Amino acid sequence: MKVPLLDLKPQYETLKDEIQKAIAELSATQMFILGPHVVEFEEKAAKYCQSGYGCAVSSGSDALLIALMVENIGPGDEVITTPYTFFATAGAIARVGATPVFADIDPITYNINPALIEEKITSRTKAIIPVHLYGQSADMEPIMQIAKKHGLIVIEDAAQSIGAECNGRRSGSIGDYGCLSFFPSKNLGCFGDAGMVVTNDKEKAHRLEVFRNHGSEPKYHHHFIGGNFRMDALQAVILNVKLPHLDEWTTKRQLNALDYHNLLDGVKGITLPQTAAWTTRHVFNQYIIRIHDGKRQKVWDALKKADIGCDVYYPIPLHLQPCFQYLGHKKGDFPEAEKAADETLAIPIFPDLTIEQKQYVAATIADAMR
Ligand SMILES: *Cc1c(COP(=O)(O)O)cnc(C)c1O
Repeated sequence: MKVPLLDLKPQYETLKDEIQKAIAELSATQMFILGPHVVEFEEKAAKYCQSGYGCAVSSGSDALLIALMVENIGPGDEVITTPYTFFATAGAIARVGATPVFADIDPITYNINPALIEEKITSRTKAIIPVHLYGQSADMEPIMQIAKKHGLIVIEDAAQSIGAECNGRRSGSIGDYGCLSFFPSKNLGCFGDAGMVVTNDKEKAHRLEVFRNHGSEPKYHHHFIGGNFRMDALQAVILNVKLPHLDEWTTKRQLNALDYHNLLDGVKGITLPQTAAWTTRHVFNQYIIRIHDGKRQKVWDALKKADIGCDVYYPIPLHLQPCFQYLGHKKGDFPEAEKAADETLAIPIFPDLTIEQKQYVAATIADAMR
Protein backbone atom coordinates (compact mmCIF):
# COMPACT_ATOMS: atom_id res chain seq x y z
CA MET A 1 0.00 0.00 0.00
CA LYS A 2 1.32 3.44 -0.89
CA VAL A 3 0.78 6.21 1.67
CA PRO A 4 2.11 9.62 0.60
CA LEU A 5 3.04 12.14 3.28
CA LEU A 6 0.58 14.53 1.65
CA ASP A 7 -1.98 13.91 -1.09
CA LEU A 8 -3.99 16.93 -2.19
CA LYS A 9 -5.69 15.23 -5.14
CA PRO A 10 -8.74 13.76 -3.32
CA GLN A 11 -9.52 17.21 -1.88
CA TYR A 12 -9.20 18.81 -5.32
CA GLU A 13 -11.50 16.21 -6.87
CA THR A 14 -14.35 17.19 -4.51
CA LEU A 15 -14.03 20.90 -5.36
CA LYS A 16 -12.84 20.69 -8.96
CA ASP A 17 -15.99 21.99 -10.67
CA GLU A 18 -16.43 24.88 -8.27
CA ILE A 19 -12.77 25.92 -8.47
CA GLN A 20 -12.62 25.70 -12.25
CA LYS A 21 -15.78 27.76 -12.58
CA ALA A 22 -14.35 30.43 -10.24
CA ILE A 23 -11.07 30.53 -12.20
CA ALA A 24 -12.97 30.79 -15.51
CA GLU A 25 -15.03 33.70 -14.21
CA LEU A 26 -11.94 35.53 -13.03
CA SER A 27 -10.15 34.87 -16.32
CA ALA A 28 -13.03 36.51 -18.17
CA THR A 29 -12.49 39.72 -16.17
CA GLN A 30 -8.68 39.77 -16.74
CA MET A 31 -8.35 41.51 -13.35
CA PHE A 32 -5.46 39.74 -11.70
CA ILE A 33 -4.07 41.99 -8.96
CA LEU A 34 -5.92 42.45 -5.63
CA GLY A 35 -9.56 43.45 -6.35
CA PRO A 36 -12.93 42.30 -4.94
CA HIS A 37 -12.07 38.59 -4.55
CA VAL A 38 -9.02 39.46 -2.46
CA VAL A 39 -11.09 41.85 -0.30
CA GLU A 40 -13.75 39.15 0.16
CA PHE A 41 -11.11 36.64 1.24
CA GLU A 42 -9.45 39.15 3.58
CA GLU A 43 -12.75 39.74 5.34
CA LYS A 44 -13.67 36.05 5.60
CA ALA A 45 -10.22 34.85 6.67
CA ALA A 46 -9.82 37.62 9.27
CA LYS A 47 -13.23 36.73 10.71
CA TYR A 48 -12.26 33.04 10.77
CA CYS A 49 -9.17 34.03 12.78
CA GLN A 50 -11.24 36.23 15.14
CA SER A 51 -9.27 39.23 13.89
CA GLY A 52 -10.55 42.62 12.84
CA TYR A 53 -8.53 43.02 9.65
CA GLY A 54 -6.70 40.90 7.09
CA CYS A 55 -4.06 42.05 4.64
CA ALA A 56 -3.59 39.47 1.87
CA VAL A 57 0.03 39.13 0.78
CA SER A 58 2.25 37.12 -1.53
CA SER A 59 3.37 34.39 0.93
CA GLY A 60 3.70 33.48 4.59
CA SER A 61 7.35 34.52 4.44
CA ASP A 62 6.33 37.94 3.12
CA ALA A 63 3.67 38.21 5.84
CA LEU A 64 6.43 37.97 8.47
CA LEU A 65 8.62 40.38 6.54
CA ILE A 66 5.96 43.05 6.06
CA ALA A 67 4.88 42.87 9.74
CA LEU A 68 8.49 43.63 10.75
CA MET A 69 8.74 46.37 8.10
CA VAL A 70 5.64 48.27 9.19
CA GLU A 71 7.00 48.23 12.76
CA ASN A 72 10.19 49.81 11.41
CA ILE A 73 12.28 46.99 12.89
CA GLY A 74 15.74 46.97 11.35
CA PRO A 75 19.48 47.24 11.95
CA GLY A 76 20.41 47.42 15.64
CA ASP A 77 17.13 45.83 16.74
CA GLU A 78 16.72 42.36 18.20
CA VAL A 79 13.79 40.00 17.75
CA ILE A 80 13.32 36.93 19.95
CA THR A 81 12.13 33.71 18.34
CA THR A 82 12.51 29.94 18.40
CA PRO A 83 15.48 28.11 16.83
CA TYR A 84 13.19 25.20 15.92
CA THR A 85 10.95 26.39 13.08
CA PHE A 86 10.82 26.75 9.32
CA PHE A 87 13.63 28.98 8.09
CA ALA A 88 11.34 31.89 7.09
CA THR A 89 10.70 32.92 10.71
CA ALA A 90 14.29 33.88 11.46
CA GLY A 91 15.00 34.65 7.80
CA ALA A 92 12.49 37.53 7.90
CA ILE A 93 14.21 39.03 10.97
CA ALA A 94 17.61 38.91 9.27
CA ARG A 95 16.20 40.24 5.98
CA VAL A 96 15.09 43.51 7.60
CA GLY A 97 18.58 43.81 9.07
CA ALA A 98 17.60 42.97 12.66
CA THR A 99 19.24 40.26 14.78
CA PRO A 100 17.41 36.99 15.50
CA VAL A 101 17.79 36.08 19.18
CA PHE A 102 16.82 32.51 19.97
CA ALA A 103 15.14 31.09 23.07
CA ASP A 104 14.94 27.30 23.39
CA ILE A 105 11.74 25.29 23.04
CA ASP A 106 9.52 23.41 25.43
CA PRO A 107 10.07 19.68 24.67
CA ILE A 108 6.36 18.80 24.94
CA THR A 109 4.90 21.17 22.32
CA TYR A 110 8.15 22.02 20.46
CA ASN A 111 7.19 25.71 20.75
CA ILE A 112 9.20 28.53 22.33
CA ASN A 113 9.46 28.16 26.11
CA PRO A 114 8.11 31.39 27.66
CA ALA A 115 10.25 30.84 30.78
CA LEU A 116 13.38 31.35 28.65
CA ILE A 117 12.31 34.56 26.91
CA GLU A 118 12.84 37.21 29.57
CA GLU A 119 16.58 36.48 30.03
CA LYS A 120 17.05 37.24 26.31
CA ILE A 121 15.55 40.73 26.49
CA THR A 122 17.95 43.68 26.13
CA SER A 123 17.48 47.40 25.49
CA ARG A 124 17.56 46.56 21.77
CA THR A 125 14.74 43.99 21.84
CA LYS A 126 11.75 45.14 19.76
CA ALA A 127 9.59 42.08 19.20
CA ILE A 128 8.87 38.43 19.91
CA ILE A 129 7.87 35.97 17.16
CA PRO A 130 6.32 32.85 18.69
CA VAL A 131 5.64 30.07 16.17
CA HIS A 132 2.66 27.73 16.57
CA LEU A 133 4.41 24.67 15.23
CA TYR A 134 2.58 21.66 13.74
CA GLY A 135 -0.84 23.25 14.42
CA GLN A 136 -0.60 23.77 18.18
CA SER A 137 -0.41 27.23 19.74
CA ALA A 138 2.57 28.40 21.72
CA ASP A 139 1.81 29.29 25.35
CA MET A 140 0.56 32.79 24.51
CA GLU A 141 -0.57 34.11 27.92
CA PRO A 142 2.90 34.38 29.51
CA ILE A 143 4.32 35.58 26.19
CA MET A 144 1.79 38.43 26.05
CA GLN A 145 2.52 39.32 29.69
CA ILE A 146 6.26 39.54 29.01
CA ALA A 147 5.64 41.61 25.87
CA LYS A 148 3.38 44.01 27.76
CA LYS A 149 5.85 44.39 30.62
CA HIS A 150 8.74 45.23 28.26
CA GLY A 151 6.78 47.10 25.58
CA LEU A 152 7.45 44.56 22.83
CA ILE A 153 5.49 43.82 19.66
CA VAL A 154 4.26 40.23 19.25
CA ILE A 155 4.12 38.77 15.73
CA GLU A 156 2.55 35.32 15.72
CA ASP A 157 3.86 32.95 13.07
CA ALA A 158 0.59 31.13 12.47
CA ALA A 159 1.65 29.62 9.12
CA GLN A 160 0.92 26.10 10.43
CA SER A 161 -1.93 26.93 12.77
CA ILE A 162 -4.93 28.53 11.05
CA GLY A 163 -7.94 27.89 13.31
CA ALA A 164 -5.88 26.61 16.25
CA GLU A 165 -6.92 27.96 19.66
CA CYS A 166 -5.08 28.95 22.81
CA ASN A 167 -7.51 29.16 25.75
CA GLY A 168 -10.35 29.67 23.28
CA ARG A 169 -8.63 32.39 21.27
CA ARG A 170 -7.74 31.84 17.63
CA SER A 171 -4.19 31.65 16.43
CA GLY A 172 -2.95 34.96 15.02
CA SER A 173 -5.50 37.10 16.87
CA ILE A 174 -3.67 37.26 20.20
CA GLY A 175 -0.49 39.19 19.32
CA ASP A 176 -0.20 42.49 17.45
CA TYR A 177 0.04 40.62 14.15
CA GLY A 178 -0.71 37.07 13.00
CA CYS A 179 1.02 35.73 9.89
CA LEU A 180 -0.69 33.05 7.82
CA SER A 181 0.54 30.99 4.88
CA PHE A 182 -1.56 29.44 2.13
CA PHE A 183 1.31 27.39 0.71
CA PRO A 184 -0.25 24.18 -0.71
CA SER A 185 0.88 21.97 2.20
CA LYS A 186 -0.67 24.18 4.88
CA ASN A 187 -4.14 23.40 6.26
CA LEU A 188 -5.69 25.97 3.89
CA GLY A 189 -3.59 25.82 0.74
CA CYS A 190 -3.86 27.69 -2.54
CA PHE A 191 -2.48 26.90 -6.00
CA GLY A 192 0.91 28.49 -5.44
CA ASP A 193 2.20 31.00 -2.91
CA ALA A 194 0.06 33.33 -0.81
CA GLY A 195 -0.21 34.56 2.77
CA MET A 196 -1.93 37.05 5.04
CA VAL A 197 -1.28 39.28 8.01
CA VAL A 198 -4.20 39.61 10.43
CA THR A 199 -4.44 42.28 13.11
CA ASN A 200 -7.03 43.83 15.39
CA ASP A 201 -5.54 47.33 15.04
CA LYS A 202 -7.04 49.53 12.32
CA GLU A 203 -3.95 51.74 12.08
CA LYS A 204 -1.63 48.72 11.71
CA ALA A 205 -3.97 47.25 9.08
CA HIS A 206 -3.75 50.46 7.10
CA ARG A 207 0.05 50.55 7.26
CA LEU A 208 0.20 46.93 6.08
CA GLU A 209 -1.91 47.83 3.04
CA VAL A 210 0.33 50.75 2.14
CA PHE A 211 3.56 48.72 2.57
CA ARG A 212 2.12 45.87 0.49
CA ASN A 213 2.02 48.22 -2.48
CA HIS A 214 5.49 49.85 -2.35
CA GLY A 215 4.43 52.27 0.40
CA SER A 216 2.40 54.15 -2.20
CA GLU A 217 -0.22 56.53 -0.73
CA PRO A 218 -1.78 58.25 -2.52
CA LYS A 219 -0.75 56.61 -5.77
CA TYR A 220 2.84 57.52 -6.78
CA HIS A 221 3.52 59.27 -3.44
CA HIS A 222 5.87 57.26 -1.23
CA HIS A 223 6.39 58.09 2.44
CA PHE A 224 7.74 54.59 3.14
CA ILE A 225 9.75 52.00 1.24
CA GLY A 226 7.44 49.01 1.00
CA GLY A 227 7.47 46.34 -1.66
CA ASN A 228 5.31 44.26 -3.96
CA PHE A 229 3.68 41.92 -1.45
CA ARG A 230 0.30 41.61 -3.17
CA MET A 231 -1.82 38.46 -3.33
CA ASP A 232 -2.97 37.30 -6.78
CA ALA A 233 -6.72 37.48 -7.36
CA LEU A 234 -6.42 33.94 -8.74
CA GLN A 235 -5.32 32.62 -5.34
CA ALA A 236 -8.13 34.54 -3.62
CA VAL A 237 -10.87 32.98 -5.78
CA ILE A 238 -9.51 29.50 -5.00
CA LEU A 239 -9.21 30.29 -1.29
CA ASN A 240 -12.78 31.64 -1.23
CA VAL A 241 -13.98 28.25 -2.50
CA LYS A 242 -11.82 26.34 -0.01
CA LEU A 243 -12.27 28.32 3.23
CA PRO A 244 -15.83 27.05 3.96
CA HIS A 245 -14.40 23.49 4.01
CA LEU A 246 -11.51 24.19 6.38
CA ASP A 247 -13.35 23.12 9.55
CA GLU A 248 -14.37 19.80 8.00
CA TRP A 249 -10.73 19.16 6.94
CA THR A 250 -9.51 20.10 10.41
CA THR A 251 -11.96 17.63 11.98
CA LYS A 252 -10.58 14.90 9.70
CA ARG A 253 -7.00 15.76 10.75
CA GLN A 254 -8.07 15.58 14.41
CA LEU A 255 -9.73 12.18 13.83
CA ASN A 256 -6.57 10.93 12.12
CA ALA A 257 -4.57 12.03 15.15
CA LEU A 258 -6.99 10.25 17.46
CA ASP A 259 -6.72 7.05 15.40
CA TYR A 260 -2.92 7.20 15.46
CA HIS A 261 -3.05 7.83 19.18
CA ASN A 262 -5.02 4.63 19.70
CA LEU A 263 -3.08 2.61 17.14
CA LEU A 264 0.35 3.64 18.44
CA ASP A 265 -0.53 3.60 22.13
CA GLY A 266 1.76 1.16 23.90
CA VAL A 267 4.51 1.15 21.27
CA LYS A 268 7.65 1.44 23.39
CA GLY A 269 10.32 4.02 22.63
CA ILE A 270 8.12 6.66 20.98
CA THR A 271 6.38 9.74 22.33
CA LEU A 272 3.15 10.76 20.63
CA PRO A 273 2.05 14.40 20.19
CA GLN A 274 0.75 15.89 23.42
CA THR A 275 -1.90 18.55 23.83
CA ALA A 276 -0.89 21.34 26.20
CA ALA A 277 -3.15 22.66 28.95
CA TRP A 278 -3.69 25.94 27.04
CA THR A 279 -4.55 24.18 23.76
CA THR A 280 -8.29 24.26 23.19
CA ARG A 281 -7.97 23.41 19.47
CA HIS A 282 -5.06 21.62 17.81
CA VAL A 283 -5.27 21.66 14.00
CA PHE A 284 -2.55 19.05 13.28
CA ASN A 285 -0.77 20.56 10.30
CA GLN A 286 1.71 17.79 11.07
CA TYR A 287 1.60 14.67 13.24
CA ILE A 288 4.98 14.41 14.90
CA ILE A 289 6.30 11.43 16.80
CA ARG A 290 9.46 11.54 18.88
CA ILE A 291 11.57 8.41 18.51
CA HIS A 292 13.98 7.65 21.34
CA ASP A 293 17.20 5.65 21.62
CA GLY A 294 18.61 6.76 18.26
CA LYS A 295 16.03 4.71 16.38
CA ARG A 296 14.65 7.44 14.10
CA GLN A 297 16.71 6.34 11.12
CA LYS A 298 15.50 2.78 11.60
CA VAL A 299 11.84 3.89 11.55
CA TRP A 300 12.52 6.22 8.60
CA ASP A 301 14.06 3.34 6.61
CA ALA A 302 11.17 1.00 7.46
CA LEU A 303 8.56 3.57 6.39
CA LYS A 304 10.34 4.35 3.11
CA LYS A 305 10.71 0.64 2.39
CA ALA A 306 6.95 0.21 3.01
CA ASP A 307 6.16 3.04 0.54
CA ILE A 308 5.04 5.39 3.32
CA GLY A 309 5.93 9.09 3.16
CA CYS A 310 7.60 10.69 6.16
CA ASP A 311 9.89 13.65 6.75
CA VAL A 312 11.84 15.53 9.38
CA TYR A 313 10.65 19.06 10.28
CA TYR A 314 13.35 20.29 10.87
CA PRO A 315 16.67 18.42 10.78
CA ILE A 316 18.96 21.39 11.57
CA PRO A 317 17.93 23.97 14.17
CA LEU A 318 18.34 27.53 12.94
CA HIS A 319 21.19 28.48 15.33
CA LEU A 320 23.34 25.83 13.61
CA GLN A 321 22.60 26.96 10.03
CA PRO A 322 25.68 28.16 8.13
CA CYS A 323 24.01 31.49 7.24
CA PHE A 324 23.54 32.28 10.95
CA GLN A 325 27.13 31.46 11.91
CA TYR A 326 27.68 35.20 12.49
CA LEU A 327 25.39 34.95 15.53
CA GLY A 328 28.15 32.94 17.22
CA HIS A 329 26.15 29.92 18.37
CA LYS A 330 27.49 26.42 18.83
CA LYS A 331 26.08 22.94 19.30
CA GLY A 332 24.66 22.65 22.81
CA ASP A 333 23.33 26.21 23.01
CA PHE A 334 19.68 25.16 22.57
CA PRO A 335 19.61 21.53 23.71
CA GLU A 336 15.85 20.94 23.41
CA ALA A 337 15.75 22.23 19.83
CA GLU A 338 18.75 20.06 18.95
CA LYS A 339 17.18 17.00 20.57
CA ALA A 340 13.89 17.58 18.71
CA ALA A 341 15.79 17.93 15.42
CA ASP A 342 17.45 14.57 16.08
CA GLU A 343 14.40 12.64 17.28
CA THR A 344 11.21 13.83 15.57
CA LEU A 345 9.49 12.40 12.52
CA ALA A 346 6.38 13.58 10.63
CA ILE A 347 4.00 10.87 9.39
CA PRO A 348 1.00 11.29 7.03
CA ILE A 349 -1.93 13.22 8.60
CA PHE A 350 -3.67 14.81 5.55
CA PRO A 351 -7.49 14.82 5.79
CA ASP A 352 -8.25 12.10 3.23
CA LEU A 353 -6.14 9.37 4.81
CA THR A 354 -8.11 6.08 5.04
CA ILE A 355 -8.29 3.87 8.12
CA GLU A 356 -6.42 1.12 6.25
CA GLN A 357 -3.61 3.57 5.50
CA LYS A 358 -3.43 4.66 9.15
CA GLN A 359 -3.37 1.04 10.34
CA TYR A 360 -0.59 0.25 7.86
CA VAL A 361 1.49 3.27 8.96
CA ALA A 362 1.06 2.40 12.66
CA ALA A 363 1.86 -1.28 12.12
CA THR A 364 5.01 -0.40 10.18
CA ILE A 365 6.20 1.89 13.00
CA ALA A 366 5.37 -0.67 15.71
CA ASP A 367 7.24 -3.32 13.75
CA ALA A 368 10.34 -1.15 13.34
CA MET A 369 10.37 -0.36 17.09
CA ARG A 370 10.17 -4.01 18.17
C1 LIG B 1 5.33 27.66 5.77
C2 LIG B 1 5.87 28.46 6.86
C3 LIG B 1 6.29 29.80 6.68
C4 LIG B 1 6.39 30.43 5.34
O1 LIG B 1 5.28 30.42 4.56
P1 LIG B 1 5.41 30.50 2.95
O2 LIG B 1 4.01 30.78 2.53
O3 LIG B 1 5.91 29.17 2.50
O4 LIG B 1 6.34 31.60 2.61
C5 LIG B 1 6.70 30.50 7.79
N1 LIG B 1 6.73 29.95 9.00
C6 LIG B 1 6.36 28.68 9.22
C7 LIG B 1 6.41 28.14 10.62
C8 LIG B 1 5.94 27.88 8.17
O5 LIG B 1 5.59 26.62 8.38
